[in-house]
Amino acid sequence: MYRSHRSRRRVLRRLVGFTLFACLAAGGISYALSRGGAVPSASAVSTFPAARSGSSLSAADARAMLADPRMVLVNHTHKMPEDLTFTTKECGSATAINKTLRTEAADAFLAMQKAAAAQGVTVWMQSGYRSVEYQTVLYNNKVKHFCSKGLSEAEAKQKAAAIVNPPGYSEHNCGLAADLNSPEHTALDEGFEDTAAFRWLCAHAEEYGFILRYPKDAEAVTEITYEPWHWRYVGRENAVLLNRSGLCFEDAIALLQRIAAGEKING
Ligand SMILES: [Zn+2]
Repeated sequence: MYRSHRSRRRVLRRLVGFTLFACLAAGGISYALSRGGAVPSASAVSTFPAARSGSSLSAADARAMLADPRMVLVNHTHKMPEDLTFTTKECGSATAINKTLRTEAADAFLAMQKAAAAQGVTVWMQSGYRSVEYQTVLYNNKVKHFCSKGLSEAEAKQKAAAIVNPPGYSEHNCGLAADLNSPEHTALDEGFEDTAAFRWLCAHAEEYGFILRYPKDAEAVTEITYEPWHWRYVGRENAVLLNRSGLCFEDAIALLQRIAAGEKING
């Protein structure tokens, strides 16, 4: 549960040469696909037609999106802001280890769970908010473990970080990440992909503000292996835009930053 989601692969980031809004304008195809239950995939970007003139997301819109606290980027190179404070609420299943999410995300999850249940699909929240203190204990224990094996402190830290994210670098620390499972498949592994719960999430999670954070085909960018169980709350409007863009979160943030800075992308 606490293991790092990071794969050790270091691959060149893909270059993205189109605007987010161009994707939105032309994104009906991917939207229709995602509504039909297809797995959101970063590779969808290559199927988008070229940008149409006058269809760019404005710099102001991009800045507003980036300033939205629900859009915070947390990964192994982006530490969670130190001063981030929030309330949490319980929404986990009986077997969950970390049962809470940030209150807004928990409410969204509970609404999503209810909607799924109404359609005969059970979705459980298995691991949510993990405090930085708890993350620190997990990480330090791992470092100690490797030190006891005779590694230097620097080596031990490097090795530990490959298994447990250092404190503040796990998306679970910001209370917006939820590992989901279902009675059909309780393990947090790729087997979750073959469940009615996962198919339902692919079709409906964006309506409740959740996106699949580590899609298939985005591993080179996220440096995290495909995780059908890990969903990230960003708010409904943002989730819809992100899904239609076909970009993984890292690529979307990078593109938004370029647009926010006034860069004209594909006219
Ligand atoms: Zn996770």
